[in-house]
Amino acid sequence: MNLNIGAGYEAFRDEVRRFLAANWQAGTRANPQEIRAFRGKAIAAGLLYRHIPVAYGGAGGGYDSIKAMLVQQEFERVGAPGEITGIGPRMLAPTLVARGQAWQKERFIAPTLLGDYVWCQGYSEPGSGSDLASLSTRAVLDGDHWLINGQKIWTSHAHYAHYMFVLVRTEPDAPRHQGISYLLLDMKTPGITVRPLRQMQGASGFNEVFFDNVRTPADWIVGQRGEGWSVARTTLSFERASINAPEMMSALFDKLKALAASTVRDGSPLLAQAHFQQAFAALEAHVLSHRFSVTRQRSMDAVGQSPGLATLCNKLYGTDIGLRIAELAQEVIGDGGLMMPGEGVTSDNLDWPFWIMRSLGVTIAGGTSNVQRNIIAERGLGLPRQAGGTA
Ligand SMILES: Cc1cc2nc3c(=O)[nH]c(=O)nc-3n(C[C@H](O)[C@H](O)[C@H](O)COP(=O)(O)OP(=O)(O)OC[C@H]3O[C@@H](n4cnc5c(N)ncnc54)[C@H](O)[C@@H]3O)c2cc1C
Repeated sequence: MNLNIGAGYEAFRDEVRRFLAANWQAGTRANPQEIRAFRGKAIAAGLLYRHIPVAYGGAGGGYDSIKAMLVQQEFERVGAPGEITGIGPRMLAPTLVARGQAWQKERFIAPTLLGDYVWCQGYSEPGSGSDLASLSTRAVLDGDHWLINGQKIWTSHAHYAHYMFVLVRTEPDAPRHQGISYLLLDMKTPGITVRPLRQMQGASGFNEVFFDNVRTPADWIVGQRGEGWSVARTTLSFERASINAPEMMSALFDKLKALAASTVRDGSPLLAQAHFQQAFAALEAHVLSHRFSVTRQRSMDAVGQSPGLATLCNKLYGTDIGLRIAELAQEVIGDGGLMMPGEGVTSDNLDWPFWIMRSLGVTIAGGTSNVQRNIIAERGLGLPRQAGGTA
C-alpha cells in the first residue's frame, strides 16, 4: 500500500499550516465568540465544511476525504476548533445537500454548521431498532400538514434539540421499505413529549419521544413520499463514517500509552513491564491497520470510487478497537475503573470511565456490530441471506 499522499496534498497541508500559523496560537483558550469568528475565517479560507457548497454556509470545493483528513489532523495538532461534530453537521447537513429541496438547504444547513440549530434523529422505536424498516410511527397528510402519531426511543439529545429528522410510515399498504417517509420537525411543536431515559452511570443522553397529533408542514419532507428508506440510508452512511474515526482512536491510544508510561506499579512504570508492552504493541497494530484501512476508504472516495462495504467494515473495526482500548484502559487505571464518569478524571486529564462506557454504546449506535457482520457476510462475502434479513 502506498501511504504517500502526493505533492498536491502535501501542498494543501502546507496551506493549512500557514493558515493556522497566522490565525491560531497553540494553547489558546478562546471564548465562544472567538471560536465562532475563527471557524468563520477557516470556512472563508476553504478549510472547513468543504463538502458543503458556499451558498449553504460551507467552504465549497467539493468533498475530498483526504483534504478533510489533513485539515482535521492539522487542526487537532494545535488544538484549533474544527468542524462542529454531532448529528446535525455530520449527518443531516450532508443528507440535505444530497437529497433536500432548495429551500430546505437554504434554511437549515448554515445555522446547523455553526451549531445554532441542534438536531436529533428519530429512527429507533420500541421493537424497531435493528429491524428499522418495521417502524410504525404513522404520518397522514391532513391539509397542508403531516399529522404524526407514535413513539421513538433512544433519541439522543431530544431533550435540548431544536429540530428532529424523523422516519414515519406514510404508505401503510406499500411494501414496508417503500412505505416510509423522512420528515423534518420543529421540536417545539405542540403534542411532542420528551422523556429522558436515565442511564446506569447517572447521565441522561437518550430519550423517549411521544407524538400525539403532531403537525409538521407538508413540504418539510426530504425526498418524495415513500422514499424515506433511501434517504435514511444516505444519513446512515454519514453516521457510520463518523463513528470512532482513526484520528480519535490514535489520540486515545497515545493518551493511554502516556498514562501507562507515567503510572508506577510494583516499582516500575507499567509501560516498562512485559505484559503491558505486549498488550500495547498488539493494540498499536490494530490502531495502525484501522488507520490504513480508513485511508484506503477515503482515497477511493476522493477519486469518486464507491468504497462499498469498506465503510461498514471500518465502523465495525473502529468500534472493536474502541473496546480493546477500553479493556486495556481498565488494566492501566486499575481501581480508577470502579469510578463513575466525571469522578474518574486521571492525571492525563481524560475521563477514562466515560470512554470505557462509551466504547460499548458505539458498537450499538448506527447499527449494531452483529448487524454490520450480517451485512458484510451477505452482501460482501455472498453468504446465504439470514431469514428475516437486515438493514
Ligand atoms: C449511543 C447510542 C446512541 C443512539 N442514538 C440514537 C438516536 O439518536 N436516534 C435513534 O433513532 N436511535 C439511536 N440509538 C438506537 C440504536 O440505533 C439502536 O439501539 C440500534 O439500532 C439497535 O436497536 P435495538 O436497541 O432495538 O436492539 P435490537 O435490534 O433489539 O437488538 C438487540 C440485540 O440483538 C442483536 N440482533 C438484532 N437483530 C439481529 C440480527 N438480524 N442478527 C444478529 N443479531 C441481531 C443486536 O445485535 C443486539 O445485540 C442509539 C443507540 C446508542 C447505543
